Amino acid sequence: MNANFQSWLDGQIQTLKDQHLYKVPKILESPAGGRVKMNGKEVVNLSSNNYLGLANHPKVVEAAHKAIDEWGVGAGAVRWIGGTMAVHEELERRLASFKHTEAVLVFTGGFTANAGTIPAVVTDKDVIISDELNHASIIDGVRLSAAKYKKSEGYVYAHKDMEALEKILKNTQSFQKRLIITDGVFSMDGDIAPMPTIVELAEKYDAMVMIDDAHASGVLGKNGAGTTSHFGLYGRVDIQLGTLSKALGVIGGYIAGSALLKDWLINRGRPYLFSTAHPPVVAAALIAALDVMENDPEPMKRLWDNTRWWKNALNEAGFDTMGSETPITPVYVGDEGAAQEMERLLWDEGVYALSIVFPTVARGKARIRTMPSAAHSQEDLEFALQAFKRVRDKMGASGLAVSD
Ligand SMILES: *Cc1c(COP(=O)(O)O)cnc(C)c1O
Repeated sequence: MNANFQSWLDGQIQTLKDQHLYKVPKILESPAGGRVKMNGKEVVNLSSNNYLGLANHPKVVEAAHKAIDEWGVGAGAVRWIGGTMAVHEELERRLASFKHTEAVLVFTGGFTANAGTIPAVVTDKDVIISDELNHASIIDGVRLSAAKYKKSEGYVYAHKDMEALEKILKNTQSFQKRLIITDGVFSMDGDIAPMPTIVELAEKYDAMVMIDDAHASGVLGKNGAGTTSHFGLYGRVDIQLGTLSKALGVIGGYIAGSALLKDWLINRGRPYLFSTAHPPVVAAALIAALDVMENDPEPMKRLWDNTRWWKNALNEAGFDTMGSETPITPVYVGDEGAAQEMERLLWDEGVYALSIVFPTVARGKARIRTMPSAAHSQEDLEFALQAFKRVRDKMGASGLAVSD
């Protein structure tokens, strides 16, 4: 091994520790759920994206068992070289109908769907216009593209600032294509992109729109069909990305759009061309998850009842939830060290709620990110609320913001 490299790694890690940015994952020792066993301890889990409790829903688990018996465990090849099984095709048909689009193409994850799609739909004659709070996987997809996209060159607008977006659209009319990209639900703040205005501006200035609905999938719109359904914008968003890893409880990402877009990505989406297809059990479990979402309103109702209760209870107790409108409920702290201290104290109280610090969010905007779900009981959330209050009392004035 190269000694210089090892010592460079050691130095980098030490710097992260000094800056309170160093992460150590905890280990889940039970299935995903509202109350879990983690690092040997029973805790209420407020950091899971398993919004609807589908990750171990009995019907989804049963479908997975059946699919393993029928199909085995691996697809054996990339999608276009014989790795596409009938069950993968069925999932895409089901998703297209769920999304009210002509076609859907599934990738192995949402991250991969961004990284594969964005570079495929633009060239060096194009520009990508981004919200400053877009998810890391959008940013990486944008960086892989040949288009102009840099903040320093004026192609990134302040978070949800529609005047700034219009100004950029006015200034970029000489490009061949213009692609506006935004999260539907912002993953660290839990607010919703102003899609009706974005779509109107795109239509006015002849630009394309791509929306990353990872945190809206299963959460917003009819049966959880996403932001386009939530705002009634069917047919007006060129590229919709959804995840199958969060509310749908399994793994995967997809692109919903026109049949032509799907055809193009089959031929030019590099992860589709060069990475192996999902195990068939993944597709079968996802079809069962869609069945639940389309036929049983109860999980989504419970998700939103819990969300409203939790936000309201935190706000009444004086915590600042940063204008969140969705289950993603940040509790503002500010200082990185204080946020990590709060995470530790919550853990001692039996609550797993992760601190989110730079570089995931801006420096000095650290927070505890909480996510109530359909998997939580009222008792779980009451328990967590009392823990938050006790921890605040313990921390006193050490940097925790209180909104009053
Ligand atoms: C989680 C997330 C992704 C990645 O999705 P995976 O399916 O987990 O790879 C992409 N975009 C956003 C906005 C996300 O929150």
